[in-house]
Amino acid sequence: MTMSATISTQPYSRIFNFSAGPCTLPVEVLEEARDGLMNWNGFGASVLEMSHRSKAFDGILNTAIEDLRELMGIPANYKVLFLQGGASLQFSMIPMNLRPHGSSVDHIVTGAWGKKSVEASNLYGGKTSVIYDAKESNYNHTPKLAGLPINRDNAYVYFTSNETIQGVNYLSDPEVDGNVWICDMSSDILSRPVDVSKYGLIFAGVQKNMGPAGAVLVIIREDLLERVPQGMPPMLDYRLMAENNSLYNTPPCWSIYMCGLVYQWMKKNGGVAAMHVRNENKAKLIYDAIDNSAFYKGHAVPENRSRMNITFTLPSEELGKQFVAEAKAEGMIELNGHRSVGGCRASIYNAFPVEGCQALADFMKAFELANG
Ligand SMILES: *Cc1c(COP(=O)(O)O)cnc(C)c1O
Repeated sequence: MTMSATISTQPYSRIFNFSAGPCTLPVEVLEEARDGLMNWNGFGASVLEMSHRSKAFDGILNTAIEDLRELMGIPANYKVLFLQGGASLQFSMIPMNLRPHGSSVDHIVTGAWGKKSVEASNLYGGKTSVIYDAKESNYNHTPKLAGLPINRDNAYVYFTSNETIQGVNYLSDPEVDGNVWICDMSSDILSRPVDVSKYGLIFAGVQKNMGPAGAVLVIIREDLLERVPQGMPPMLDYRLMAENNSLYNTPPCWSIYMCGLVYQWMKKNGGVAAMHVRNENKAKLIYDAIDNSAFYKGHAVPENRSRMNITFTLPSEELGKQFVAEAKAEGMIELNGHRSVGGCRASIYNAFPVEGCQALADFMKAFELANG
């Protein structure tokens, strides 16, 4: 097979990294981080070594928060927190903080992460109702939020905007309907415009679409902080973290700094609206290769398929393995699918270059020709 030599076309001989997380970061951001690694902006030391109580770090944190507020249009009555424990700890912190003792909550399960949120929620007092579970279709779709059998006196309704493993997403926000909507946006935050005011709480592990691993972003409507019960373990207490602007203890300084650089990169490149257009175009290149072939089969139904994680299978498991191996030799790595779906998964978050999507689409056509 002859294929484009993808490796040499990227700066620093970088490969096309389709990792589902941690993600590819913008080259300009990595360059700026590198340049500050010995002496950040004349500070005399790097952000890695800087006191989190210094004025310099305070500036880094607050600028990141302000830039994110601007990018997402976060209303003034929401707090922006950078916490630890990954997105996974939020599966526990949310019920611990926001489900008053004895009350019930509703979860919509459209994939593996939603399922984990239910497992964690079940560990704490109160009832967790799964009002929709897409398990029977092996999580290949997302139901419309309006019209689900939401319980009238729930403390909140929880869903996942993009299921990273199965590659299904929501492209619109819930309606304002009196419910407190909570959303795990780990793998599609900042990939499309979102109306934050429709949500009570949004959270996202930063390593999918914003920066390196280490921090989890929580955007919470202030009135919900009043629900936080007394006697919470301090590190799990949203109210304490909000009162301290995420500086109750040493925060994940480097991760926050890198997120801030990514926010500036996004602002320079047209913000969320521009990312959205770019992401649609990037995903289309690969989905077209799937749709125009009888060889590849998309896992998700077309109306709900993710722009961030593209899941597809090949006619056999062997061909899937061969595809992943040959793609790797061409400079495209991490294309193996999760075992629950099989086949392949291409994760193409905001910073993933369009050239990589084109290279994959070209490779898919050539591979089909040779093996179909
Ligand atoms: C990756 C991911 C998580 C888990 O993130 P961690 O930071 O590793 O805990 C949760 N939800 C979604 C949607 C994810 O993609």
